[in-house]
Amino acid sequence: MGGIQVGAHVSSSGGLFNAINRAIAIEAGACQVFVSAPQTWRPTKHTEAALAQFRARRAETGFGQVWIHNIYLANLASEDPLMVEKSIASVVNAMTVGAAAEVNGVVLHTGSHKGLGLEAVLDRVVDSLHRILKASPAGPMLALETMAGQGGTIGTKFSDLGTLLRAVDSPRLATCLDTCHSFAAGYDIRTREGLEIALTEYDREIGLDRLAVVHANDSKTPLGGFRDRHENIGDGYIGVEGFEVLMAHPAFQDKAFLLEVPGYPTEKHPKGGGPDLENVRRLKAIRDRVPVAR
Ligand SMILES: [Zn+2]
Ligand SMILES: [Zn+2]
Repeated sequence: MGGIQVGAHVSSSGGLFNAINRAIAIEAGACQVFVSAPQTWRPTKHTEAALAQFRARRAETGFGQVWIHNIYLANLASEDPLMVEKSIASVVNAMTVGAAAEVNGVVLHTGSHKGLGLEAVLDRVVDSLHRILKASPAGPMLALETMAGQGGTIGTKFSDLGTLLRAVDSPRLATCLDTCHSFAAGYDIRTREGLEIALTEYDREIGLDRLAVVHANDSKTPLGGFRDRHENIGDGYIGVEGFEVLMAHPAFQDKAFLLEVPGYPTEKHPKGGGPDLENVRRLKAIRDRVPVAR
């Protein structure tokens, strides 16, 4: 086991290789990026030269894991066939760029059943995932993210993702555990007992071997609040002690912990400009002072 890599979501504007530099500037050893604007359908062009520059920069810096977050508009469970087609195309695009950039994988918000439950949309989502994997070049994993439950999101319960992984049955399909989302969804991961219960359920429903990556976010929403509102590390309901419990758990030791926090206010960004040096340092300090639990 290589220990936990502390990483951050960073901007890739101006070329994917810039993401590595931005991550290093805030002392992050892993990162996540968007490869096209998250609120638009139109894919961004990545030239072979820019991708080569990214691969070279990553190699020469010995940089850790890199993940792509798919755009936010995608919903594989939509009842609108055009929406499903566009959603599939967006994931295939992310997987294609990811394969060329040789990243670890793509993280996906699977979609929303709008309160009908996963069963009502299961066939559509499974078919979409099959099509995505068939159309994607080999290489990157596809990690379905745990969700907070806002608007009937798929992945609120671990069993949602377990059902999908079993139905699709591909070694390329994995999961991303978002600490803020799962806490808001009712999993009390901030205490040792609560985390043990949650991970036992995770292992039973999904399998801990299918946990590929972690989104490390504190939560502005209390336990079971079913709202997706990220907070800076230590300033939310999970708190420093909660992250001590999380980072001590053996199940997370070889994972990347990727920050998607608001960040602290600066002159340029009065509400925070996203993951920053302070949040990276907080998470690293926790990792470095807590011994791994047995
Ligand atoms: Zn996340
Ligand atoms: Zn979120």
